[in-house]
Amino acid sequence: MTADAPFSLLAEAYEKMEATTKRLELTDILVALFLKVPKEIIDKVVYLTQGKLYPDYLGVEIGVGERLALRAISMASGLTMQKVESYLRELGDLGLTAEKALRSKKQVTFFKQPLTIKRVYDTLDKMAKAIGEKSQDLKLRLLTGLLNDAEPIEAKHIIRIVVGKLRLGIADYTVLDALALAFTGSKDNRPELERAYNISSDLGAVAKAVAEGGLKAIKEFKIQVGKPIRPMLAERLTTPDEIVAKIGGLCAAEYKYDGERVQVHKDGDDVTLFSRRLENITNHYPDVIELVQKNVKAKTAILEGEIVAVDIDTGDFLPFQELMHRRRKYGIEKAMEQYPVSIFFFDILYADGVDYTTRPYQERRKILNEIVVTNERIQLSKVLFTSDPREIEAFMEQAIQDGCEGLVVKDPRSIYRAGAREFLWIKLKREYRSELTDTLDLVIVGAFHGRGRRAGKYGAYLVAAYDDEADMFRTTCKVGTGFTDEDLAKFTEMLQPLKIDHKHPRVDSKMEADVWFVPEVVIEVIASEITLSPIHTAGFGSVKPGSGLALRFPKFTGRIRSDKRPEDATTVRELIEMYKSQLKVIKEEAAPEAQA
Ligand code: AMP
Repeated sequence: MTADAPFSLLAEAYEKMEATTKRLELTDILVALFLKVPKEIIDKVVYLTQGKLYPDYLGVEIGVGERLALRAISMASGLTMQKVESYLRELGDLGLTAEKALRSKKQVTFFKQPLTIKRVYDTLDKMAKAIGEKSQDLKLRLLTGLLNDAEPIEAKHIIRIVVGKLRLGIADYTVLDALALAFTGSKDNRPELERAYNISSDLGAVAKAVAEGGLKAIKEFKIQVGKPIRPMLAERLTTPDEIVAKIGGLCAAEYKYDGERVQVHKDGDDVTLFSRRLENITNHYPDVIELVQKNVKAKTAILEGEIVAVDIDTGDFLPFQELMHRRRKYGIEKAMEQYPVSIFFFDILYADGVDYTTRPYQERRKILNEIVVTNERIQLSKVLFTSDPREIEAFMEQAIQDGCEGLVVKDPRSIYRAGAREFLWIKLKREYRSELTDTLDLVIVGAFHGRGRRAGKYGAYLVAAYDDEADMFRTTCKVGTGFTDEDLAKFTEMLQPLKIDHKHPRVDSKMEADVWFVPEVVIEVIASEITLSPIHTAGFGSVKPGSGLALRFPKFTGRIRSDKRPEDATTVRELIEMYKSQLKVIKEEAAPEAQA
């Protein structure tokens, strides 16, 4: 007999989680749950609790639409479709609809088999894997079968999972905290677990390892080709002087290419590409696959680089947006011809059995040089080693002339810190030195109804920066300009599935939006400056008591950052830094006049 447990354990835990928004309480509920379920299935418990069946990078979706869910509810409850639809209109939530429908079920089924976690998981898995013409029928049958045996509360959560709306607010870090507490006895061990997560991007695998083998198994966790590593990220500073001071001497300044970041996993001729968000994007770039197969001289390797679109006529770099032509299912061959790309490698994390993430930058760069045979299409990022800010400045100008965004300046002694945004890599873009002409990537958390020409659509959005310390989204402005009519229609549709009837627990806002959303969509916004404001919560109290940081004259640039997760948005810390650096610029400009 394989280990299993009643599904009611999960349903009861989810009920409790739903009733709280406090992270500590959520952690406690998770700890209790983890200790109750058999260790063999803890990975499945972790995935289900985050509303999925597998780690994100596998891209598995259950794929059940509202219609199919309603039909399953109707069949399992014996109520008509009209009745079930009226419940949905009244309650506005499919999960609650299922719960209510099953409660009103007249006939009691005598031969009901209590649901188990494995049965639910395996059935959902079958649904996810169903393909082809008959898949909808099969999904309907499988789902109805589960609902037939489900208690109303269980049905509520099952339905939310299958339609992708189980939103318990359990962030990855909450799971890691809970695992550390449950299986190592202390939250102090979280960094070890975090490391395992950062090199595998698979919380279920981490859970299973720690539950079955304790801290020892976690320490033995190794990089595996095929499992994406969470990317190391860059902080930002405003001037070369600050950067040299921060790094403390010799710097490795690299061109910052404006394209799409990829993590390349090579296992013989088998090459997989992961995006910055760790989605499998292998299919977008058959040409890059071929370049890697031919020119990367290691049997197994994990490399990182930036794919850049190039102009066929001039060989010049093209803006990032041109890569969007590659995001299509059909006609890739044609897109490859029309929109050719080059790849610039900037890091190596693993090769032929050696984990390079713990080796210093300089050593990694040397290995990269040895392993990659370069030509016009496959190159290493251009680099300059220097401790002179003026040389960095000149290199920066050269980078911009060559069509790059600026520089990423790296600490040559630093290891590869998976999943971390620290001052080991520092971005320098030209715009930072003027006022706020730099763009920000902000998360849509709410909206306001439009008027006049925009009636019936959203007229403006409430957007937020990410507070990575508290794992919260804090508002920084209301943005209504820069949207074309097309944008507005598209946004309304895109945000529809994310609509919720209250402010999301991870959102901190003083402003009352007309509509709230699950923080998910990241958009690029430009603004003239950052000001202090009592109504926005980003950086609240960090510069002045009673004030947060708000954007003045914000405008949507037209760019939806679908390549960024909400957690990759501009952080509150960055906003505070930008505010401070902006002040400095203004002061510097004002000084000579003041003397005159
Ligand atoms: P950002 O996306 O603004 O946080 O900037 C960091 C990004 O710059 C990385 O995620 C890469 O996609 C990109 N990038 C371009 N060139 C480099 C480079 N030489 N080293 C590291 N990152 C680079």
